[in-house]
Amino acid sequence: MANDPAGTPPLLLTPGPLTTAAATRAAATRDWGSRETDFIELTARLRRRLADLAGGDDLVAVPIQGSGTFAVEAMLGSMVPAEGRVLILINGAYGKRMAEICRRIGRAYRKIECAEDQAPDAKSLDRALHADPSITHVAVVHVETTSGILNPLEDIAAVTARHGRRLLIDAMSAFGALALDVNRVKFDAVAASSNKCLEGLPGISFVIAPKDVLSDAAGRAPSLAFDLHDQWRGFEANGQWRFTPPTQIVAALDVALDLLDAEGGIVARHRRYQANLDTLRAGMTGLGFRPYLPEALSAPIIATFHPLPNNSFEFNAFHRGLLDRGFAIYPGKLTAVPSFRVGCIGQVFPADMQRFVDAVSALI
Ligand SMILES: *Cc1c(COP(=O)(O)O)cnc(C)c1O
Repeated sequence: MANDPAGTPPLLLTPGPLTTAAATRAAATRDWGSRETDFIELTARLRRRLADLAGGDDLVAVPIQGSGTFAVEAMLGSMVPAEGRVLILINGAYGKRMAEICRRIGRAYRKIECAEDQAPDAKSLDRALHADPSITHVAVVHVETTSGILNPLEDIAAVTARHGRRLLIDAMSAFGALALDVNRVKFDAVAASSNKCLEGLPGISFVIAPKDVLSDAAGRAPSLAFDLHDQWRGFEANGQWRFTPPTQIVAALDVALDLLDAEGGIVARHRRYQANLDTLRAGMTGLGFRPYLPEALSAPIIATFHPLPNNSFEFNAFHRGLLDRGFAIYPGKLTAVPSFRVGCIGQVFPADMQRFVDAVSALI
C-alpha cells in the first residue's frame, strides 16, 4: 500500500517535505550530544556551507529550529526595527504570510499586491519607494510556491538598492536550486529551510545575512526564541545552539549538502529540476491539461495546472487515485480558480515525472 507507513512511501511531488536520498535519511539514525565537540564542529561546518551557497565571505548563516515560517518570522522581527516600515510585494499566499507576521509582531508594513499569475513589477516598486521615504525595507518571495511563479529578484534588488532601502527575501522554495548570490542580488537577509531544494529533512530553517547587518540587529526582535542576533551571538560565543537543536536533522542536512556538491552544485540541481518540469509540462499538456503559468514565468519548483475542461474534477478522488499509484501531489493554493499542483523538487528525476504522467493518463 502506497500510504502504509511500513511499506514504500509515495514519491512526494510536493513543495516539501520531499522525497529524500537514503543517505540523507540514514544520517539521522545516530544520537549526538549537542554540547560535544563533534556536534559543535558539525554545526560550524553546516553554517559555513549554507553561507557559501549564497556567495559571500562576509555572510553568516543563522540556523533556527523549526519550519520555514519560523525563519521568515525571525527575519522580519530581527531585521526590521520597531520604527521601520516594510513594503511587501505580494502575488500569493507566502507574500500574504509575511504581511500577517508583520501584523502579529507589530511591524509597520505596506503592500503592493498583484494577481497570482503576475510577477511584481519593478516600476511600481520604484514609484512606491519614491512616494514613501518612510519605507526602510522591501520584502519579497523568490519563487511564490502558491503558483510556482518566479519573481524578478534581480530587478527588485536593483530598484531597492538604488533607493537605499534594504531587501529581505523569502527564498524558501528556491534556495539550493536557483542561484542567489549576494554579489548579484544585494540583500540584507535571505530565509530558507532544510527540507526544500536542499533536499534535507524537515526541522531546520535558516537566515543568511551579512555580518554587519546581523550586528546592527541587536535588541530588535520582539521575541526571545526568534531573535536572530541572539541566536548568532550564541553560535559565535561557544559554537552551540541556544536551545535544544534537532541534532539528527542537522546531521542529515550536512549529508544532503554533500549530495548537492556531488550532483554538481546549484547549477546541476537547477538543470535536473528544469528537466523534471519540462517532462511534466510536456506530458500534462499532451493529456490536455493547461498549465496555469506561461513557460517564461514558471520556476522549476512546482507547477500548477487547471483541471481538464468538461471533466467534473474532484481533487480528493484525483489525489487518492494518484496515491494508489505511488504519487503524492498537493491541492491548488490559488484564491481565484480550482487547480492542483505537482512539485518538481527532491530526489525526483525526469523518468519519475514521465511515470507520473502515465499514472495521470490512466486516471482520466
Ligand atoms: C514552504 C515555504 C515557506 C515555509 O513554509 P513552512 O511550512 O513553514 O516550512 C515559506 N515561504 C515559501 C515561499 C515556501 O515555499
